[in-house]
Order: sequence, then C-alpha cells, then structure tokens
Amino acid sequence: MLSPQHIAPELAQRALEVKHQPIHLPNCSAAGVEVLLRRDDILPGGNKFYKLHFNLLAARESGCDTLVSMGGAHSNHLHALGIAAQEQGFKLRVLVRGYAHMAITPTLADLKAAGAIIEFVGHSEYRELCQAGYIRLNPNEYFLPEGGANAHGEEGARYIGWAIEQHFGTGVSDVVMAAGTGSTLKGVTQGLNGCAGALGVSVLKGAAGSSLYRNGCGHQPGWKMLWGFCGKGYGRPLAAPMLAFWREFEYNNGVLIDPVYTLKMLWALNQLARLGYWRQGARIVAVHTGGLQGRRGFKQQPETTINNTAALCAV
Ligand SMILES: *Cc1c(COP(=O)(O)O)cnc(C)c1O
Repeated sequence: MLSPQHIAPELAQRALEVKHQPIHLPNCSAAGVEVLLRRDDILPGGNKFYKLHFNLLAARESGCDTLVSMGGAHSNHLHALGIAAQEQGFKLRVLVRGYAHMAITPTLADLKAAGAIIEFVGHSEYRELCQAGYIRLNPNEYFLPEGGANAHGEEGARYIGWAIEQHFGTGVSDVVMAAGTGSTLKGVTQGLNGCAGALGVSVLKGAAGSSLYRNGCGHQPGWKMLWGFCGKGYGRPLAAPMLAFWREFEYNNGVLIDPVYTLKMLWALNQLARLGYWRQGARIVAVHTGGLQGRRGFKQQPETTINNTAALCAV
C-alpha cells in the first residue's frame, strides 16, 4: 500500500508540522495522565483543511468549476470551503439552513466577501435534502455533503492519524477528538493504523448521532464513541460549570478553543479522568480541530487576554 507521503506529499508535510503541546486539565493532572494538544487549529479550517483536500482534487479532476455544499449559518465547513474555493479559483454555491431575513453571521459575511452565492433553505426542507443526500446540480458543479463528510473527507482525515503515528509510534494510548458526522474519527482511526485507540466525543445529542452509523463508523474497528458530554446539545448555550471550565482552560493554557467542539472534547477528557477512565501514566493526544471562526457568533464568550487575532487569522 502506498504511504500517505507518496499520495499527497504536501498534505503529509502539513500534518507532520503540526505541534503537540502539553496542556493542563485539572483532573488529568491529578490522575497522573499526560495530555498533549495537537494544534490542528493552526491550519486554515482546522480538521476541514484535511477533509477538503481530496474533495477539491476530485472537483478539479472532474472538470467542475463550481463547488456546492450546505451547512448552518456558523458552519466551520462552509467557512473553510469559502477560503479554499477562493484560493484555488473555484466558484462556490452554498445552501444555508435558515432564512434570508435572519441576522447575518460573521461566517456568512466572510462567505459573501469570498464571493460565495448563498441560498437559504428552511429547516424541514434542509433536513430532507440531508436525508436524500442529493441536490440538483449543473454539470459544472461538484457537491460536498454537510461537513465535507464523504470518502474524500475521510481520506484527508487519515493524515491526522498518520502524522500522530509518525510522531509517537505506540507512545500514546488514545487519540481523542470531537465528533460531529464522525468522518474525521473514521479517517483518523484508519490513519493511526492500530498504534493507538481513537475516541470520539459526540457533540450531538441522541438520535442526531445516528448519522455516524450512516457514515459507516459502526463497522470500523479501533474506535469508540462517547455520548453524554455535549451539554445541552449542538451549539446550545453552555451551563455554568462548562462555561467556567472553558474560561479556566484558556487561562491556564493560553490556547483558545471553540465552544461547540473542542470544549466538549476537553470537558469529556477531564471528566473521564475523575471517573478513573484513564490509567495512571497514560499519555493521550487530544486533537484541537479548530472552529475558532464559529466562536465569533457565540453569545457566551469568556473574557480572555489571549491574543486571538493570530488564532482567528489562522482559521
Ligand atoms: C466539523 C468539525 C468537527 C467534526 O468533524 P466530523 O468529521 O464531522 O466529525 C470537529 N471539530 C471542529 C472544530 C469542526 O469544525
């Protein structure tokens, strides 16, 4: 089998350059568990940087000049796609869940500035489109599903797991990441190639998570999915303890995180330490998948002295 380095050398290189930074989580420190934060948030689009790579190659190979995709009004996926489309000279059409009279979000403003055509789709129609997985396309259009969650997306996410394996071999026990559609988890699991366990922390409540199984994660050995750490649910306001944890994490570590994905993942990691889930002396890689652009639209912001301009520019 060809190694990732031969298939997409530039993506492999970017993945290898990402740093792993020791972080302090109170319950993990108390339990003698070492946590390294893999800073994929530094890449433009975080985990979406990986998920878009092979999609854009496929779009080009099929001779399409326009990308079409869908998502919410704060979507990290659409934002990353906007940047990538502009950089690589694609036109972009996005279907956004919501209504034209809604207040424009920072994400949508950036998409407009990047030249994207925005079409609003009401909630029930949006759900139908997602379920059908089909949108009427012109021959020059290439479609990416919500979250970039297709086989090309998974193939890109493999490079995260592969790079961790290159860095640490069997020196880490678990690789933990937030999971939405679960396609990053699936790709990372494949990339790790058995050198460590892959653990997804679902940010979706209940049945919404069943899309994971539609994505085929259910048949993949080497990964686990954890439920029950998503607070009030996807993108919902945070209860006081999680809000306090967010503020303290940023203060202690000098790293900005987003409230929808990475906060939930780190919260789970810390809670699990209290429950005795990790063995003493364990070394864990937690993947910071990015998402800081989406944070701009979030109402409960902790005060921070961290210079977030650099971090936001990196989105
Ligand atoms: C999209 C996203 C995820 C989830 O990725 P999936 O492949 O859908 O599971 C995690 N973190 C951030 C910051 C994201 O934007």
